[in-house]
Amino acid sequence: DDAEIEALSSKLWPNFDEEKEELKPSSSMTFADFPLSKKTLTGLSEQKFVTPTEIQRESLLFALKGHDILGAAKTGSGKTLAFLIPVLELLFRQRYTPGFGLAALIMSPTRELAYQSFDMLRKMGKHHDLSFGLVTGGMGLKEEAKKLTSTNVIICTPGRFLQHLEQTPNFTADELKVLVLDEADKILHMGFAETMNAVLSSLPPQRQTLLFSATQTKSVKDLARLSLKRPVYVSVHEKA
Ligand code: ADP
Ligand code: MG
Repeated sequence: DDAEIEALSSKLWPNFDEEKEELKPSSSMTFADFPLSKKTLTGLSEQKFVTPTEIQRESLLFALKGHDILGAAKTGSGKTLAFLIPVLELLFRQRYTPGFGLAALIMSPTRELAYQSFDMLRKMGKHHDLSFGLVTGGMGLKEEAKKLTSTNVIICTPGRFLQHLEQTPNFTADELKVLVLDEADKILHMGFAETMNAVLSSLPPQRQTLLFSATQTKSVKDLARLSLKRPVYVSVHEKA
């Protein structure tokens, strides 16, 4: 993988001194035109994902380059892959393996949505040497806790994750590299604002954060202010 990681990095950061921020991919681009690992491209093509949707196309390069993202696009526009691909690529480039433990946290508003993202993650990440876990209270706290330490990517609901932070001995998120807030408007609508604040206060500030939402309410903007650093705004409007 070493040569591939080097090639990917030189495509994403061509020249550190005079980095160009021309990141407007054309609408004819396929996933294969993006600097993605073979493992991810294989996962995508197995699922017959060839052409990125608009939100994916507009956000992918920024996310791959490590920027925080505030993404808004309606339901059904493909937000899940817009964060799963950058998560997999970041861990691949950093040569993560299951033994390294927690590196990415994906917050979903409900068990159902968490499971849907998890299902997609398993398919997309199938060829990577990474471990994935679902933490939504589907099993006992102790049983879940056992898996936590050897899981690279956790998809969770906010309440259950906070419960682990508070109650599971020796469990921390100190090494977290990337946080995803999926369906942020729904997370807040379900009354998780305080839970989110508590979780955010125990995460390392040095991390990448990707926040996706179907709508841009005031509370989403508040959460964005609290969780993102100099985000790139990607908003995809419905065509009339
Ligand atoms: P959102 O989170 O914005 O509501 P999803 O990520 O759930 O949207 O995606 C909606 C549907 O579109 C899913 O069935 C998904 O498999 C499909 N989809 C996502 N990205 C692509 C793509 N690039 N090409 C084809 N279908 C896609
Ligand atoms: Mg979604």
